[in-house]
Amino acid sequence: MMLRKRVLVTGGAGFLGSHLCERLLALGHDVLCIDNFFTGTKDNVLALLDDHHFELLRHDVTFPLYVEVDEIYNLACPASPIHYQHDPVQTTKTSVHGAINMLGLAKRVKARIFQASTSEVYGDPHVHPQTEDYRGNVNPIGPRACYDEGKRCAETLFFDYYRQHKLRIKVARIFNTYGPRMHPNDGRVVSNFIVQALKGEPITIFGDGAQTRSFCYVDDLIEGFIRLMATDDEVTGPINLGNPGEFTIRQLAELVIAETGSKSKLVFKPLPQDDPLQRQPNITLAQKHLGWEPKVPLKDGLKRTIAYFDDLLSRMKAG
Ligand code: NAD
Ligand code: UDP
Ligand code: UDP
Repeated sequence: MMLRKRVLVTGGAGFLGSHLCERLLALGHDVLCIDNFFTGTKDNVLALLDDHHFELLRHDVTFPLYVEVDEIYNLACPASPIHYQHDPVQTTKTSVHGAINMLGLAKRVKARIFQASTSEVYGDPHVHPQTEDYRGNVNPIGPRACYDEGKRCAETLFFDYYRQHKLRIKVARIFNTYGPRMHPNDGRVVSNFIVQALKGEPITIFGDGAQTRSFCYVDDLIEGFIRLMATDDEVTGPINLGNPGEFTIRQLAELVIAETGSKSKLVFKPLPQDDPLQRQPNITLAQKHLGWEPKVPLKDGLKRTIAYFDDLLSRMKAG
């Protein structure tokens, strides 16, 4: 029989966080979701509010938090370039002060702690596909640095608490993930293209569209989180979690047009500064330690995500 655990999810009202809360409740745990609602919304966890094992607390991770829990998933941080560049100082504070507070909490209550790190720690990578031992190519003073360096420093803190205080840490480097409950206006490529296609607006390709990304469906990723948290203490990560299927941004646009049956045309806009040219996870470590690999092909995941946005846009139109 599985023991009911008290699990804290920071950033739990966001895209990934809300799916994680749902999954943890389904596994029979007590979930404490904390969020400052910067990019997340109560709507994302609305369906969970009636569950007695779910608790929602408005809280900013840059401030200390005193609660009693067995496990912590630290997801609080805006993830899309538009949002994390909106208030870059706050982004770094969220990653760094947030990590310190959650690590301090984990230390006091002896909880296992998971960090949602990112493929952005590899920057614009010179090694392809990216393996966990690659140290990355990040511009420390560019517009993406608040996010990239914030997440890198958070990893440093996790490993120092591990070495200095013997904390049980789990660091996942997440690659581009998509699915229902992505924010419709957060500028990420999958949500942008789907919303544009459904509205019949031009699909905005930045640069020539030859840059690549590898897209993981949210359910696959959450399965990876749960498996990583359940590993033996020796498995600390960092461990890549993502779908190795690599696509150019132009291919993604064409797929979205095909799957929505849209008449939208492609338009080309300037490539943002420091936009990585290629990104693809090597997931050998995840396969070995978690017995995990993604199952949902891009086409199927896009269908489900398109259905979500179609419904959302109809509801928004209806007022
Ligand atoms: P999201 O923006 O939907 O979720 C982030 C959540 O954190 C939001 O609910 C937001 O309100 C909350 N938050 C932000 N600052 C906070 C603060 N100071 N205190 C408390 N809550 C705060 O983004 P997401 O895609 O769900 O990302 C979740 C985590 O996964 C982030 O840490 C992100 O860096 C990481 N990640 C995501 C992806 C991806 O493709 N989705 C890829 C790599 C890493
Ligand atoms: N902290 C917290 N909740 C706790 C314990 C600690 O938010 O239950 C915060 C605390 O405010 C501190 C940070 O975590 O700033 C780091 O804690 P730690 O014990 O590692 O460091 P110290 O308190 O010695 O600075
Ligand atoms: N992108 C694009 N059009 C858009 C939004 C994004 O061509 O409307 C590109 C962006 O320049 C990048 C890729 O799609 O090369 C992924 O962008 P996203 O912001 O989703 O994620 P990240 O760059 O953080 O991987």
